[in-house]
Amino acid sequence: MPLVTRVVEVTTSSELVFEGVRVFDGEHFLDGERWVLVAGGRVTAIEHAAIVPTAAETRSGGVLLPGLVDAHVHLSFSTAHAVFRGGITSVLDLGEPLAYAFADHAPLRFQAAGPFITAPGGYPTRSWGANGYGLEVASAADAREAVAMLADRGAAMIKVAIEPGQGPVLDAATLDAVVSAAHARSLKVAAHALGAAPVRAALEAGVDVLAHTPVERLPDALVKEAGARGVTVISTVRAFGGNASTRANLAALAAAGCPVAYGTDLGNDGIAPGIDTAEIEILEEALVGRERALAAATSVAGALAGSSGRMSVGSPADLVWYPRLDSPGDLRRDIQVWTGRP
Ligand SMILES: [Zn+2]
Repeated sequence: MPLVTRVVEVTTSSELVFEGVRVFDGEHFLDGERWVLVAGGRVTAIEHAAIVPTAAETRSGGVLLPGLVDAHVHLSFSTAHAVFRGGITSVLDLGEPLAYAFADHAPLRFQAAGPFITAPGGYPTRSWGANGYGLEVASAADAREAVAMLADRGAAMIKVAIEPGQGPVLDAATLDAVVSAAHARSLKVAAHALGAAPVRAALEAGVDVLAHTPVERLPDALVKEAGARGVTVISTVRAFGGNASTRANLAALAAAGCPVAYGTDLGNDGIAPGIDTAEIEILEEALVGRERALAAATSVAGALAGSSGRMSVGSPADLVWYPRLDSPGDLRRDIQVWTGRP
């Protein structure tokens, strides 16, 4: 099937007109067709009436969305250009060595947590993450120092590993110290927590984000508590096999009120760079609807990744355009993607 991608980095000298296009604004499809003008790397008009095109480039019809956002990647296992060509304009990277995490990865808007904070010998330091993907802390004082260092380097979020199956885990006092130090620097904390016990530990510590949909079916009371706390869940369903208990957790957490962000955990086997249409299909089912699935991959993921994931007058011209969007599979067909400012 055709996969034609135009990579255009909009500069102050270029203008674009989308005429008679359907617009998804990051939450909803706007009614009817719109004329959208881009200039100076920003969206400058979204009108019902025709704008006389003055631009060198025009697209007619089709569907225009904010650039898609993946809220869980390990970009060092792929490349920024491969991800961008797949319709993704912004990512949140949830695990990298320091030198990679706090570098520029144009054309993506790239924000990162840096290495996982973990116990000495804890996940992922004994497996795939042996070379700098984990930052081992042995005490609450170590934890505070680690968070301060990451914040000073430019971390957009703090990532903790709570993975009892793959080594020691942080004790409650150390986990509490991570969360309070992060919150004191206005940083959210995302936890790798796949089972009910790690999720309970994460919630008790005041973690803000579950970096994955948990794999082990969660008790109802725990789901309710996650919802009451407003914990955001990053989907990553396919990276962990997409089994029934994971999907049931995602649906239950969403129904309990947890915001759900699209994330692939790019870097795992079987996850290709760019938008993952099968993950979007899973989100459509779990969140009950296409608009909510697309919101997960735009405004909700954008809120975590430090990019708007929304389209309005004045927003950066991070845009993806499709000649048609009848099913999630169309998100990989004939993609054209722009970023207003890498
Ligand atoms: Zn990950």
